[in-house]
Amino acid sequence: MREFTMRPEVLELDPYKPGLSIEQIKEKYGLTNIIKLASNENPLGASPIVQKTIERHASGVFRYPQNHSPRLTKAISRQIDVPEENIVVGNGSDEIIDMLIRVKCRPGQDNILCYNHSFSMYKLTARVCGVEYREVERNEGYQLPLDKLAEAADENTALVFITSPDNPTGQAASVEDISVLAGVLPENCLLVVDEAYIDFVWPPESYTPVQAFDKFSNLVVLRTFSKAYGLAGLRLGYGIMPASVAGYLKRARIPFTVNTLAEEAGIAALADEDFYNTTLEVVMRGREFLATELSRLGCEVLPSQANFLMFQPPMPAQRLFKELLKRGVIVRPLASFGLGKHIRVNMGTDKENEQFIKILSEVLAGE
Ligand SMILES: *Cc1c(COP(=O)(O)O)cnc(C)c1O
Repeated sequence: MREFTMRPEVLELDPYKPGLSIEQIKEKYGLTNIIKLASNENPLGASPIVQKTIERHASGVFRYPQNHSPRLTKAISRQIDVPEENIVVGNGSDEIIDMLIRVKCRPGQDNILCYNHSFSMYKLTARVCGVEYREVERNEGYQLPLDKLAEAADENTALVFITSPDNPTGQAASVEDISVLAGVLPENCLLVVDEAYIDFVWPPESYTPVQAFDKFSNLVVLRTFSKAYGLAGLRLGYGIMPASVAGYLKRARIPFTVNTLAEEAGIAALADEDFYNTTLEVVMRGREFLATELSRLGCEVLPSQANFLMFQPPMPAQRLFKELLKRGVIVRPLASFGLGKHIRVNMGTDKENEQFIKILSEVLAGE
């Protein structure tokens, strides 16, 4: 085979290893029923109203969408009370992360800063772009080390990423702590708060800086339709950022990355308050239930503000993962986050949660 030269940053990357699909697991273990609690998806699926909207617009897909999704941008602007000029809609929030790094960071010169055991996309995208990725250690009990990020930022730090509520720990930073960090970062540095799970915090006003977005000059907030809105497969997210930064992202982007059906679905999802509120009820009830039951079964559970819990089981995490898989339950072992003793499980429906606890207690009893 012919060897082609590739960019050195790309040669170093490990290929992404996806888990088995639901179909593959059914076949391998001879199962008919699978409970997937591994990817923080919405336990209720996608809103029926949104599904109808997608069907209704199917005939329109021969047309190009409108670039930058102006109708969805307007709907988001109304919903969060932030001007349209501050909003960039993307193909999942992953696209916004990618655009921010490509547009803001100078390869070989700038760095981005994060804390350890965090969402892999920041590091992956930085590496692909030839931008140095730096990590600080978390504080005691996996607390978000905003103080250490402030200390570690230097004049070449272009972006500081925090995830709040955090994946995989479920911990959330307060608005005060975020404001303090934003206030002390170097002049040229943007603070990016990834709010993929912000819908599940309580009370929201203590955690999201978006309500006071006009008070910040260097803040970027990322949101997604993949979790609370149940649209992970459609790929839709957005960033809220200074208008000048939004302008550069829009100039640099590939056109039409958000497709027609995703834009229509996003508008319909924002309007379907009943589905959204029911989702929050199910998740919050499930969070209480699972936290209590996991502790009762001898797991060390971290308190969570998200739609998942991180816990350390009283047996090796990788073995527990396999035993659960054999019985049709998919959870997320956290070795890839550098947390080899821990597991992340998202809230399912009430029935799925009960089933998960029943199967888990059987596995643990067999130890
Ligand atoms: C799930 C998740 C996202 C969402 O990504 P999309 O590209 O919008 O699906 C973003 N950040 C974190 C930390 C996540 O866990």
